[in-house]
Amino acid sequence: MKIIPACIGNKTAIFIKPDGTYLPCCWASTNPDVRNHLGEELYAQLNIHKYSIDEILQSHAYKLIVEKMTSNNSYSFCKKVCAEDKVDEHFVMDGPYANDGLNISVQI
Ligand code: SF4
Repeated sequence: MKIIPACIGNKTAIFIKPDGTYLPCCWASTNPDVRNHLGEELYAQLNIHKYSIDEILQSHAYKLIVEKMTSNNSYSFCKKVCAEDKVDEHFVMDGPYANDGLNISVQI
């Protein structure tokens, strides 16, 4: 299953939980998969109370998230939301966040 991540590339989606945890989107924030995947120590690397956004985006934890979301063994919510055959349903938007044809490259 090919994943077309709406959260990386030219257009970004972010979500910051009330506890300060920075995640790639709201679906990632409401699902335990990321925390379960990373474990508590790495999950703590995503907290804006401890690290800048740049530090979080460069962290080992965030790189693992991107690696998994784009893999054949992606998170369950990515498969539901950003699978190639689902993208048009969820991410056809107008305005400043409109996708641009999904020219996305992933650098890990
Ligand atoms: S569902 Fe997954 S691939 Fe889609 S925006 Fe969220 S984290 Fe990114």
